[in-house]
Amino acid sequence: MNPLPTQPEAGASRPVPGSVSGAAGLASVNLLEFDLDGLAAFCEGLGEKRFRATQLFRWIHKSGAADFTQMTDLARSLRDKLAGRACITAMPVLSEQASSDGTIKWLFDVGGGNAVETVFIPDDERGTLCISSQAGCAVGCRFCSTGHQGFSRNLITGEIVAQLWFAEHHLRQRLNLPEGTRAITNVVMMGMGEPLQNYNALVPALRVMLDDHGYGLSRRRVTVSTSGVVPMIDRLRADCPVALAVSLHAPTDALRDDLVPLNRKYPLHELLAACRRYLEAAPRDFITFEYCMLDGVNDSDEQARDLLRLVGAGASHNDPQRVSCKFNLIPFNPFPASGLKRSPNERVTAFARVLQDGGLVATVRKTRGDDIDAACGQLAGEVQDRTHAHTRMTRAPVQVHRSGSAVANTIKAGRAGAQETHG
Ligand code: SAH
Ligand code: SF4
Repeated sequence: MNPLPTQPEAGASRPVPGSVSGAAGLASVNLLEFDLDGLAAFCEGLGEKRFRATQLFRWIHKSGAADFTQMTDLARSLRDKLAGRACITAMPVLSEQASSDGTIKWLFDVGGGNAVETVFIPDDERGTLCISSQAGCAVGCRFCSTGHQGFSRNLITGEIVAQLWFAEHHLRQRLNLPEGTRAITNVVMMGMGEPLQNYNALVPALRVMLDDHGYGLSRRRVTVSTSGVVPMIDRLRADCPVALAVSLHAPTDALRDDLVPLNRKYPLHELLAACRRYLEAAPRDFITFEYCMLDGVNDSDEQARDLLRLVGAGASHNDPQRVSCKFNLIPFNPFPASGLKRSPNERVTAFARVLQDGGLVATVRKTRGDDIDAACGQLAGEVQDRTHAHTRMTRAPVQVHRSGSAVANTIKAGRAGAQETHG
């Protein structure tokens, strides 16, 4: 395991703008930890009314203020109280890398030898921020470099929100955006970690993103991507029904058990049932199924046809087997320890065509930022692994073969790698 870099990369690091700490170095509450209700409760504890919390929340998230003295419409007495007890601060930036395609990746120090990555991906009309939810990940998917690094800890709400707060306000300045223009129009929880294994910290962070006094993103512009934590999919539907992406990667349990070990706990029929329930209240929504294209493992025409059957493609709208969905095929981004290869482009196109001919929307994800290792599955940060992932995952390499019904080597070592971190 590499230690955290002590020196930021040359010319790449910059301090978090205007971060402050509490008076006299006393431990102070980081206000990025709160959604609006949480901030209102905090302010109530200071004897302040809710509308003051709303003002404060707007200063923090709409204006990017980090210094209470800037908040000129708050009473001096409140500003003094806050300065003694609270701070607004993001994690230190260890490095920043910019890709030739405009993608920017930051590495944030979250302490204890751990660092997480956040990626900004600009596209014509959009600015998408890919946010991390954990230092590492306990799910241990075969094809994911975060999974290979193992798991250290959940991020707290303030650390999830800080990635957006920092990126939005930093980019507004850097790109010299006109007043009132947003740098970030979409958020995807597709960085390091399994967001639904850090549910309690995730939900308040999502609320900050959606709040009109915060970032005001519509729920369709905030996507939670999950490897399939079924009970938490149900809770998300009830608590904060943002767009849902499900990392599918295989049409059968035998193959998915190996690629995404969490499948042994929540097999495909349970996962698809949870997807259907997720859409019940919002019939115009759809699930995005992510599918990482692995050469000779999950990319045959027959496997594409199995997928069509799995999601009930072509069935009528009220057929109980049908899941309203789109497929997003992700060309595998290789890393040495995986032992896997990217499917050739023509295979990806042919696979997409089978899905399209079966009546589904299937797109191929553009690879962005791969010159700075910022593409899907390349985010690795620094993780002080507590799960021995590396040893576990090198023990049972995936078997790659060409037959349509290929089943990768199913790990016989019980449920290792399927542990969960939420309560
Ligand atoms: N843990 C969540 C979100 C983070 S991963 C999840 O698994 O959904 C975000 C996406 O990147 C997932 O769809 C994941 O399967 C995909 N991914 C992981 N490793 C990859 C790799 N090496 N190449 C391409 N996509 C990868
Ligand atoms: Fe974790 Fe997602 Fe990577 Fe799987 S793909 S190891 S769930 S981050």
